Amino acid sequence: MSNTNQGPVTVLGLGMMGAALADAFVRNGNRTTVWNRSAGKADALVAKGAVAAGDVREAVDASPVIVVCVSTYDVMNDLFGPLSDALRGKVVVNLTSGTPDEARSAAAWAADHGVQYLDGAIMAVPQMIGLPEALIFYGGAQEVFAGQEELLKLLGGNSVYLGTDAGVPMIYDLALLTMLWSSLAGYFHAQALVSTVGVSAAEFLPFANTWIEHVITPAIPESAEEIDSASFETEISSLNVNKAAISHLVKTSNQLGINSDMSVAIQALIEKRVAAGHGTHALSSLVEAFKK
Ligand code: NDP
Repeated sequence: MSNTNQGPVTVLGLGMMGAALADAFVRNGNRTTVWNRSAGKADALVAKGAVAAGDVREAVDASPVIVVCVSTYDVMNDLFGPLSDALRGKVVVNLTSGTPDEARSAAAWAADHGVQYLDGAIMAVPQMIGLPEALIFYGGAQEVFAGQEELLKLLGGNSVYLGTDAGVPMIYDLALLTMLWSSLAGYFHAQALVSTVGVSAAEFLPFANTWIEHVITPAIPESAEEIDSASFETEISSLNVNKAAISHLVKTSNQLGINSDMSVAIQALIEKRVAAGHGTHALSSLVEAFKK
């Protein structure tokens, strides 16, 4: 299988992300066929050299590699259901977000129909597509990834193959998203707290930044070592100490009329571990509280 980034490619779905993917191929000079449910979204790409297909079958027929980026797996499944004959022998790279099970079902459908399938998770915003630092995870047959690696690097310079299980990229995707949401939600909770004493986000920013740099960032590799060795004893900050501190956070948030839902959820995890006899453990011991 040749590994080139010059070949013809089809992009199905020209939403915010799909349009960015197609644009990266057009900029590289690939013959890029595009299709979108709402046809007008193809116009800007056609002006740059893309070819608009009249329907999905025409788009699939136009290229050996089909990149899909629609809102859900159900949408992709509905598009592909009637086209299994046209897709046989083609490479499908699905960059739609969903769950690991949806990815594995799509991979199983593809295998049943002779389609070479890669599932991908884009860890970037559309503006980052094509940049060296754009991270995209892939799962599926190793030889299919190897055959398309150069083409896929046009979308994300940091394209990482995670193995044959097509569900794994979605696990990584959700793992990084839970980090994003929970860490930013903690920051927003912090801003809401300081706002009660008239402090603006800009005024608090230097302290948030120094806290992340000197306390949170170093805790990530330290915690990784503790988690992998299942060795949670600490000389720094125990769950017992954190149990007391988070009760102050919940109480103060409630008194100030600030939503404490997230703090209450974290408090419950800490209390669960302390109740199980792990009060002398580091915070990283909470990983065990997440496991059922
Ligand atoms: P948009 O909402 O901008 O686009 C959704 C796309 O899905 C459009 O092309 C839309 O077509 C198409 N679509 C929706 N329903 C149907 C349908 N019933 N039949 C045919 N096509 C349909 O979303 P994005 O482009 O931002 O996201 C696409 C995927 O990429 C999502 O799974 C998202 O999670 C993922 N992603 C997005 C990121 C981002 O920053 N935007 C980052 C990482 C992943 P139409 O134009 O006709 O509505």
